[in-house]
Amino acid sequence: MKPIKSNPNEEKCPACNGTGFPSVKQPVPGRRIYPPPCKTCGGKGRMTEAAE
Ligand SMILES: [Zn+2]
Repeated sequence: MKPIKSNPNEEKCPACNGTGFPSVKQPVPGRRIYPPPCKTCGGKGRMTEAAE
């Protein structure tokens, strides 16, 4: 059996590191904030189009 390979056309979004949310600084320590979805990938965490 072959291991399932991820779609070669899909790449992990470098802007959010595949999380779907860009890393933001927490302005208030101890208080969790919810940043808006990554604009680069639309919150998916990966890019379906070749960036290059
Ligand atoms: Zn992203």
